[in-house]
Amino acid sequence: MKNKPFVPQLVYIEPRALEYPLGVTLKKKFEDMGLEIRETTSHNQVRNIPGDTDFQKYRNAKSTLVIGVRKTLKFDSSKPSAEYAIPFATGCMGHCHYCYLQTTMGSKPYIRTYVNVEEILDQAQQYMEERAPLITRFEASCTSDIVGIDHLTHTLKHAIEYFGQSELGRLRFVTKFHHVDHLLDAKHNGRTRFRFSVNADYVIKYFEPGTSPLDLRIDAARKVAEAGYPLGFIVAPIYIHEGWQEGYRELFEKLDAALPQSARDDITFELIQHRFTKPAKRVIEKNYPKTKLEMNEEERRYKWGRYGIGKYIYSKEEEHALRESLESDIDTYFPNAKIEYFT
Ligand code: SF4
Repeated sequence: MKNKPFVPQLVYIEPRALEYPLGVTLKKKFEDMGLEIRETTSHNQVRNIPGDTDFQKYRNAKSTLVIGVRKTLKFDSSKPSAEYAIPFATGCMGHCHYCYLQTTMGSKPYIRTYVNVEEILDQAQQYMEERAPLITRFEASCTSDIVGIDHLTHTLKHAIEYFGQSELGRLRFVTKFHHVDHLLDAKHNGRTRFRFSVNADYVIKYFEPGTSPLDLRIDAARKVAEAGYPLGFIVAPIYIHEGWQEGYRELFEKLDAALPQSARDDITFELIQHRFTKPAKRVIEKNYPKTKLEMNEEERRYKWGRYGIGKYIYSKEEEHALRESLESDIDTYFPNAKIEYFT
C-alpha cells in the first residue's frame, strides 16, 4: 500500500509541450525536484525506458511520467458511466493485478499527462453544444487514475472549476488514491461527482498494490463530502473469495461509520463484478506471475463481447448472490443511495 503521493522516477517531455504554459510549469517543477528529464519526440513512442527485461521495463514505465500534447481530440464514449471519456491523462502508477489498462495500453504502460488542457476543454464544450439542451457527462478516469497524479499537475482541479461554470456539463472520475487535499477548495458548484473505488479488505490486500489503503480512501471520501461534492463509490471488481459476504458487509459498515449525514441523500454506487478476457489473463500472468487472482475459465460464464473478444464472468447463481448481497447491504446502510448499475 502506498501512503505517499506519487513522484516519478523519470520524466520525459515532448518539445511541443513547452509551447503550453503547463508544459513550462511542469518542466520547471520537475527540475526543481531534481528529477531526471529526457526529451521524447512523441508521447506515443517513448524509447529507452530503463530495464533489462520486459518485467523490469513494465515496472519502471509505471513510475515514468511523460508530458505531452494530446493530438486526438475525438473523445471515446464511456458507457454506462458517462457520455464521453475526457482525456487528460493515460496510464497509472498503481499495480492492481486485474487492471484493464494492462491490455488497453499494451506496450505503453508509462503515465502520460497532456498539457493542452484548454484545447481538450474546448472540445468538451463542442460536445456539450451538440447535445444541448441535454446534460453531457464526461468521465475523466477511463484511461488513468487522474487523482493519483493531480497533486503534480492540477489539471483535474482546473477541469472541476471549468465544469463548475458550465450549465450543461458534468464531470466525474474515480480514484483509489487519497491525495485530494488540493481539490477540496475547488469551485465545483456540485457539478463534479467525486467517486472512490473501494473493495473488501481481501481484494485490496492481495490485488491492489501501489494504491492507497482503504481507510485513507474512506477518510478522503469524508473530506470530499464535507467539501460539498456529490459523492459516489465504485465497488469493483466484486470478487468471490472466502468470507466475501462479510468482507463486503464490513466495507459498507466502514463507509457508514465515516460519512457525514449531509452526503447520504446524493450518493451513488456502481457495482462491477470481476471479469476477464483471455488476452487479459495472459498479460496479467506475465506482469504479476504470483497473483492469487483466480481466472479459471471453467468456473465462469462466457459472455460474448465486442470485437469477438468475450469475457468470463461469474455464473448466473453467483452473480445473483453477489448482487443480492451487495444491494441489500447498500439498502441497509445507505437507504437513500442510488445504485447506478450492476454489471
Ligand atoms: S488504480 Fe485504477 S488505473 Fe491504476 S492500476 Fe489500479 S485499477 Fe488500474
